Amino acid sequence: MKVGFIGLGHMGEPMSRNILAAGHDLVVNDIRREAAAGLEAAGATWAVTPQLAGAGRDVVITMLPAPPQVEQVLLGEDGLLSGLADGSVWIDMSTSVPAVADRVRAQAHRTGRGVEVLDAPVSGMAAGAKAGTLQIFVGGEEATYHRVRPLLEAMGDPDRIMYVGGHGAGYTVKLMINLLWFSHLVATAEVLAIGTQAGVDLATLRRCLLASPAASNFLQNDVLSVLNHGDYDESFALALASKDLGLAIDLAGAVGVPVELSAVVEQIYRRARAQYGDSGGEMLPVKLYEDLTGSPLRLT
Ligand code: NAD
Repeated sequence: MKVGFIGLGHMGEPMSRNILAAGHDLVVNDIRREAAAGLEAAGATWAVTPQLAGAGRDVVITMLPAPPQVEQVLLGEDGLLSGLADGSVWIDMSTSVPAVADRVRAQAHRTGRGVEVLDAPVSGMAAGAKAGTLQIFVGGEEATYHRVRPLLEAMGDPDRIMYVGGHGAGYTVKLMINLLWFSHLVATAEVLAIGTQAGVDLATLRRCLLASPAASNFLQNDVLSVLNHGDYDESFALALASKDLGLAIDLAGAVGVPVELSAVVEQIYRRARAQYGDSGGEMLPVKLYEDLTGSPLRLT
């Protein structure tokens, strides 16, 4: 396929590499010119604007930080929508919200452009993007999903690429996954801080929790990067994590669900972001508790 890719950050760069490795023809764009250097060496072509990244492409993927950047890239000056050919597909793999894609579809409709749109955000972190094992949640027309599925398989685990419903369903599923994961993180950090401050050995506490009905995948696997290595995962920035929590809470507001717990989790992430900076790792809320107690949570 002739593919365009816009947004070559922690996720987009390795995803683009996998698209090239699968044999597709690739054009790339980013506001950081230097972000494309490695991809050009691997065979991709640079496009100066999003509009040019769309010209003559069958499919164009965006992997951008947040809704404002998606809107800018699609509908701004020299935007992607103005470059997309009739019959082509725009896939937004950013963690975003339906409203922007709705405006893009409306604009395409007004201007008589036959462009298909899918939302297809991902889980699996930068490591999954590199390995080509992302989980992908696709919303939009099912026939369009089937058309582009071979391309999605270049980036994701075929068993975990899921069609989840109409336009916007992919964004919603992704935001709910992150909301639950961040909630697990904060709850786990609190429990480990309390239990160890009360004198229980960390490894013993974790072993008992894992053998109990309170066990979780987070406690089993993900927390180990902090407990074993003091690694708070800088490949996903606190600024983006806070953005996702804000979007999830906005969504809750839009559908009329009060979310007291999620609001507290969002505030804790906001505090971690204020304390450790925008580019700090997504697991730094654990460090808020470590700093408070003066005891790093480490197994070794
Ligand atoms: P990132 O900040 O590393 O990359 C974003 C890229 O977009 C950067 O290269 C930036 O220069 C580029 N960009 C910004 N504005 C642009 C514009 N107007 N035109 C062209 N390029 C522009 O972010 P990331 O970690 O790769 O995340 C991308 C998306 O994927 C986000 O929505 C994030 O929430 C989501 N996500 C990230 C992870 C992760 O672990 N990092 C996991 C799952 C989903």
